[in-house]
Amino acid sequence: MTTPKTILVVEDEAAIASFVTLYLTKGGYVVKTVATGTAALNAIAAEVPALIILDLNLPDLDGIEICRRIRKGSDVPILMLTARDEDVDKIIGLEVGADDYLTKPFNPRELVARVKSILRRSSMDRRRDEGDEISHGDLTINAGRREVMVGDREIQLAPKEFELLWELLDHRGLVLTRDQLLERVWGYTFAGDTRTVDVHVRQIRRKLEEASPIVTVWGVGYKVAQDRTSAPAA
Ligand code: CA
Repeated sequence: MTTPKTILVVEDEAAIASFVTLYLTKGGYVVKTVATGTAALNAIAAEVPALIILDLNLPDLDGIEICRRIRKGSDVPILMLTARDEDVDKIIGLEVGADDYLTKPFNPRELVARVKSILRRSSMDRRRDEGDEISHGDLTINAGRREVMVGDREIQLAPKEFELLWELLDHRGLVLTRDQLLERVWGYTFAGDTRTVDVHVRQIRRKLEEASPIVTVWGVGYKVAQDRTSAPAA
């Protein structure tokens, strides 16, 4: 038996916190719960959990602010909970670096499935070689250092933006559908919700500007062209 992983649940609604705890405990996890953002930051400072389930609407700090603060010091996986569908764009569009989200009300089994796949995914990431590096034109991305360079300039990507870019570069010349990208980067498919992929691609393009190698294949998905001709600037 491996040591059970600890999950920190940050949720002020006691009923939700307790059923989430129940299902995660049944799923084999050790669960700690806190009801405020301040308590969450203190708990994380004392001990970084394997994963954080973070409610967007908390009585003190808002979930996005907490996420941002956690990301300054840690890549710990974060699953956000939101009460409204409109918040989703806020979560995935604001570079807060959450790994996934669920809209309330949600099925607790779905939550446990998401937690499992995020944890599986993040342990796979860690196994990647320090030296794994892909170059494409001016762009170089290094998996071990999780570093993206355009020439001499380092570009900061959120964890999922990095993974998405890596996946596309690693399959140069092939078109990956949005569903394939969801499965490879997020570790599951959630039927029909391809907005996540599109929002992340938009962020990558905005940050990399001219150096973005991602091509939209209308009606299908995205790809990176086999060879970016390092043609002299016209
Ligand atoms: Ca709440």
